[in-house]
Amino acid sequence: MRWKWAKKKGVKESKDAGGEGGRVSPSEPRNAPAAAMGDRNSRRIIELAKLVGNSVCGDCGCSNPEWASYNLGVFICTTCATWHRKLGTHVSKVKHLKLDKWDDEQVQNMEEIGNEKAKQKYEQHVPPCYRVPKPGDPPVLQEQWVRAKYERQEFIHVDKQTYNTNEIEGRLMKKARDENKYYERKFSVSENCLKYYNKENSKEPKVTITLSELSVCLAPPKMKQNNGMQLSYMCDGSTRHIYVYHASGETIIHWYMAIRNIKLNRLLVAYPSATPEEVVPYLTNDFTMEGWLSKTGPSERDAYRKRWFTLDDRKLMYHENPMDPYPRGEIFLGHKDDNYSVSEGVPRGCKEHDCAFSLVTPDRTFVMSAPTREERAQWMKAINTVLERPLRPQDNQSKAEIEAKRKSSRGSRHSFFNFH
Ligand SMILES: [Zn+2]
Repeated sequence: MRWKWAKKKGVKESKDAGGEGGRVSPSEPRNAPAAAMGDRNSRRIIELAKLVGNSVCGDCGCSNPEWASYNLGVFICTTCATWHRKLGTHVSKVKHLKLDKWDDEQVQNMEEIGNEKAKQKYEQHVPPCYRVPKPGDPPVLQEQWVRAKYERQEFIHVDKQTYNTNEIEGRLMKKARDENKYYERKFSVSENCLKYYNKENSKEPKVTITLSELSVCLAPPKMKQNNGMQLSYMCDGSTRHIYVYHASGETIIHWYMAIRNIKLNRLLVAYPSATPEEVVPYLTNDFTMEGWLSKTGPSERDAYRKRWFTLDDRKLMYHENPMDPYPRGEIFLGHKDDNYSVSEGVPRGCKEHDCAFSLVTPDRTFVMSAPTREERAQWMKAINTVLERPLRPQDNQSKAEIEAKRKSSRGSRHSFFNFH
């Protein structure tokens, strides 16, 4: 075992383990040989950090890591260094590459391991359902990835991957539909359905959601809940949102990965020639964008009203409030060749507004206005990216459901005006 040496040698723990207190001060008097050795080690560690593999964070892949865990032998970024510190120095000993002192043994350990070898060890069995975080992903996903790798060593010991299952059951805090309170509810996933129960002993679930209808978003910032998760599904032709969280980040990630795993297995059965890598992009996706926009109606007399917009894959939803259970409206975003487009400004006959933009769909033009020019540019870019992407077979079902809902609500409005 090429890893035995790391344990045998037992990398010496220095006084400044954890990176605190070991800062090199330029004015500090030091004796000459120690200073020379320190300089040599400082130069050496910076050189090592430039090598292929080490020049990106060993945990999240962002460029130019500024820290390292000298017992684990990985170069890491500032964000991942914070997760390493939370593990405690018995798991990871973190130092800054430039601001901390490095001794010979620590530098030697970094030289002997490095990011590529560490990856071979700590990521040897990452299952396809596991969403490996990228820079900017939800903090709970990042922290639990670091804990899973080094603290629980889930990717070395496969039996620790509790999400590798087709059935889960447990309790999550669920937001009540019409009030801002959370209640503990029993949830389960089995037979390709997610269910939740309103009463502890109820035999019948309150809601049963087919997994193919379920979209899962991890820790949307509007929840202000690090361990939060938003579940959305189609209910009577309209999207319904459910908000849940768990006090433990490990538990919420367990649910998230288990749902991904069950979805993955379903897709592999449905598409026997597909590989796990091919279906992984369809398991879950965080919202592309969320935020406040003002929206006006089709008539010149219509005022601009503030709405909370959510762009979820090909679906643009608007809500009265960010945590509403149902959107007020949903717009399917098709392909640009089918008469969908987005442009700055308002169409003729529509009220002008700062930072306005128009979304043209085959049956209606939607006019919205962003709080700033920068946000307008971000929304337009995000919508354009969707309009340029070819439709997948499953997008057609979502299109049919949203359009049927739009037509039926338009129908009921007509009858209201005609008969009252
Ligand atoms: Zn990182």
